[in-house]
Amino acid sequence: MTDNDIRELIIIGGGPAGYTAALYAARANLKPLVIEGFNWGGQLMITSDVENYPGYADGVLGPEMMAEFRRQAERFGTDFITDDVTRVDFSERPHRVWVGEDEYRAETVIVATGATARQLGLESERKLQGRGVSYCATCDAAFFPGKHVVVVGGGDSAMEEATFLARFAAKVTIVHRRDEFRASQIMEDRARANEKIEWITNAVVDKVLGGDRVSGVRLRDVNTDETWELDADGVFAAIGHDPNTELFLDQLEHDGAGYLITRPHSTETNVPGVFAVGDVQDHVYRQAVTAAGSGCMGALDAERYLAALQGHLMTAEAAPRL
Ligand code: NAP
Repeated sequence: MTDNDIRELIIIGGGPAGYTAALYAARANLKPLVIEGFNWGGQLMITSDVENYPGYADGVLGPEMMAEFRRQAERFGTDFITDDVTRVDFSERPHRVWVGEDEYRAETVIVATGATARQLGLESERKLQGRGVSYCATCDAAFFPGKHVVVVGGGDSAMEEATFLARFAAKVTIVHRRDEFRASQIMEDRARANEKIEWITNAVVDKVLGGDRVSGVRLRDVNTDETWELDADGVFAAIGHDPNTELFLDQLEHDGAGYLITRPHSTETNVPGVFAVGDVQDHVYRQAVTAAGSGCMGALDAERYLAALQGHLMTAEAAPRL
């Protein structure tokens, strides 16, 4: 297939959602092209052990799991471009996608570009990602039984993560840069009622301490600039996520935070033939397994759309089992 051919399906994004969409589409003979991004793999590339993905009873390293996802999609004939999409035009069919100067065209596109957890932006944080620095309490709380962990943030996520972590950890310290909280009152109250949770306000994490693993944080008072160290076994940054939707904002319907909007019980966007799957359209569940499920839905939706285009509209009941 050359760059000039019109493909049936292009998938933008190489995380659990994109690779699962590719697996299903490849097995349905759609010969998908996945433009997976220069840094393929998504958020699992900055985690270590994944213990909540069904089928891996002994756990698996995030990057290893993503390599397996990719290999499985490849096995059935997926093509890959390991680069970033720079521009799209969904105004007419075939839809057009560019990587630099190279243009690719397809009847359907699945957007699976995910979301990015906001980082504190510290070099020491980057070094200790997956070694005590985490962005997901649901994923990693169980690794901290009886330990002390720091949660950074003052929104609902921080309250929720701290409350969840307190089920495992002996102590949780919430560090927030102001003394007012963005979190809803009920979530803050719930965290306040938890005796394991302590609070440090008007402070930021200045440095994550530790060699091989996190051993603590250096905090800085935002009013006085005074710094001090706090021993801790883990640091959970819960300062929000940003959907990776910059490329699509002028073409696809999105909410105020930039998440793409899909029709209920479907992965269809407002543009026929363009589908959105995984975290790019889900700010609630944000799990690898839900993203993968959503990727599967996207492939089935794209397949049905293509069948309808070709004049062979199938009902959901008549659609082949993949
Ligand atoms: P958020 O509401 O944007 O809150 C982010 C928090 O992190 C804010 O307190 C912010 O401080 C702080 N922050 C941002 N950048 C920081 C930095 N560089 N250093 C230190 N602190 C920083 O994000 P969220 O908590 O993830 O919530 C996102 C959305 O999901 C919200 O609409 C929320 O209600 C919703 N949500 C709901 C639930 C639930 O209902 N169960 C659970 C989770 C999330 P400032 O306040 O000073 O800006």
